[in-house]
Amino acid sequence: MRKQIVAANWKMNGTLEQANSLLDAFAAAPLTVNENKIAVFAVPAPYLMLAKEKLSGNPYLQAAAQNCYSKKSGAYTGEISVEILRSIGISYVVLGHSERREYFAESNAFLAEKVNIALAYNITPIFCCGEPLAIREAETQNAYVATQLEESLFHLSAEEVAKIVIAYEPIWAIGTGKTASSAQAQEMHASIREVLAAKYGAAVAAGISILYGGSVKASNAVEIFGQPDVDGGLVGGASLIVDEFIQIINA
Ligand code: PEP
Repeated sequence: MRKQIVAANWKMNGTLEQANSLLDAFAAAPLTVNENKIAVFAVPAPYLMLAKEKLSGNPYLQAAAQNCYSKKSGAYTGEISVEILRSIGISYVVLGHSERREYFAESNAFLAEKVNIALAYNITPIFCCGEPLAIREAETQNAYVATQLEESLFHLSAEEVAKIVIAYEPIWAIGTGKTASSAQAQEMHASIREVLAAKYGAAVAAGISILYGGSVKASNAVEIFGQPDVDGGLVGGASLIVDEFIQIINA
């Protein structure tokens, strides 16, 4: 049975004071998490150890990094390695978020290197994919996303790819308040699973969690997460609002 995951992406938001109060609130909240339903908090890097500590009372609440570099260590000022993340007990890293692809020119090939090193250190990549508006308008989104998967993941063995979490995030729905309909989300998630099945077989594809991201809110989470191929969400804005995010996790 594949895991259901709700992942918060705080992006570059929150002071230490705000991070403390958000983490305290989530740690104390009545959350319906268990070994198959987990919540992950991708916090800004300076708060990773704080998040680890604050969430330590519940094994189903995990801290995650928002990014990592493709090298183990060395002269890469300002970057964060998986060796560092592993040494502080981090088990998840978001890779290939559309903001990293757009503002930091991260290519599919570069992301393949990051995926490799994360897996080598036993850190689960939450691998983001998704199309810009022009691609959706041209109705070529399925092929676009398939290419992202092929170029960043398809060098992996079946055993390795089974350890990845995929987050489908249509770029036109991120932070815009415009959500993909539940039918659009399901259609793309099914297509991603088909692409994975064609390469790795149906059993492997059926075991991979595919999250939806793009303006998920308490008011639309139940419907989106209720789709058969949607296994949870990657949530930006609403993950910074305690009551909203509690409802999203419990959805
Ligand atoms: C995101 O940052 O990954 C995201 C989906 O943001 P939002 O929920 O704000 O659209």
